[in-house]
Amino acid sequence: MAFVVTSRCVGEKWAECVEVCPVDCIKEGSNMYFIDPDVCIDCGACASACPTEAIYESSEVPREEQAFIRYNKEFFSF
Ligand code: SF4
Ligand code: SF4
Repeated sequence: MAFVVTSRCVGEKWAECVEVCPVDCIKEGSNMYFIDPDVCIDCGACASACPTEAIYESSEVPREEQAFIRYNKEFFSF
């Protein structure tokens, strides 16, 4: 399991989440940030810091945001 960045991050560039991540696994994409699921240690710090509440634990991602689980994973597979 890992935490997942979802649609409310799109276009957001303050990156409070990056500042608090203890393992530096949140990276900037072209229009949003992504969490590397293989490195995330599930501490939850990013979710607490995110002002748009864009970050969910993977088992709690809303149905309409489910595609972002794949987007986060794919971002780190290239
Ligand atoms: S804090 Fe939230 S909105 Fe800001 S970059 Fe991180 S995930 Fe995106
Ligand atoms: S849950 Fe913790 S380790 Fe995972 S991305 Fe967020 S701050 Fe980083």
